[in-house]
Amino acid sequence: LAIAMAQISNRHIDLTAEQQHYLGRVLRLRQGDRFIVIDGQGHWWLAQLQVMLPAPSPHAEILEAISVQNELPIEVKLWVSLPKTGFDDLVRYCTELGVSEIVPVISQRTVLKPSLQKVERWRRIIREAVEQSERQIIPTLVDPISFVNAIADSPDLRLTTTSQPYICVARGDLPHLYDCMSRSQSTCDSITLATGPEGGWTSAEVEMAIASGFQAVSLGQRILRAVTAPVVALSYVSAIWET
Ligand code: SAM
Repeated sequence: LAIAMAQISNRHIDLTAEQQHYLGRVLRLRQGDRFIVIDGQGHWWLAQLQVMLPAPSPHAEILEAISVQNELPIEVKLWVSLPKTGFDDLVRYCTELGVSEIVPVISQRTVLKPSLQKVERWRRIIREAVEQSERQIIPTLVDPISFVNAIADSPDLRLTTTSQPYICVARGDLPHLYDCMSRSQSTCDSITLATGPEGGWTSAEVEMAIASGFQAVSLGQRILRAVTAPVVALSYVSAIWET
């Protein structure tokens, strides 16, 4: 069944022009056809199209709630230093892989200057990827923040025993993220993964992160692109917590 995201009120769904286009023209649904509605906050419903264009008030009705659980069993926050290009794909792939929150970070070697329009586009891409990957929860994409402020705003990083922050550093002598996460699998319910820009983290940034509770980890012997590293790190999370 096709999946669409909507605001639900009283079993009635008013369809926006964008949703009408998606359901009617892209998915070719007709009056009486059923589809799945998600609200992005953990709920799914089976819904039925009641009236479609060119009728005056296109809408759908909720038929029944559906119980689904496709989310990762652990919260994953991704602090990703904005790459020069490729952030659209990065956001899409990390949403498919189950990320809970994306924090676009401006580190010392970040080149891209994020605009409000870009942030809105990334949030739209996330919603599309939630529909495509059949997730229940829409990951949060917070406004871009400097790495220094992200650390200052997270005083709880080293206070809880059930959450662990990792900073990925392209150095082969560090412990591997997979091994570190495997060891904490049974005790950890939240992790933060920080990945750097094309030029990498500065050593001052790595030291500051470690002083704030981050563990420096490797993703293997090869240097991954800034847009590849978060995807690889998230696939390890899935491998550990979902298999
Ligand atoms: N020459 C840069 C350096 O020395 O850091 C390479 C940066 S790499 C293109 C971009 C980011 O991806 C890094 O800052 C790191 O967060 C992550 N990364 C790439 N390969 C990695 C690896 N093998 N282990 C850990 N992190 C890696």
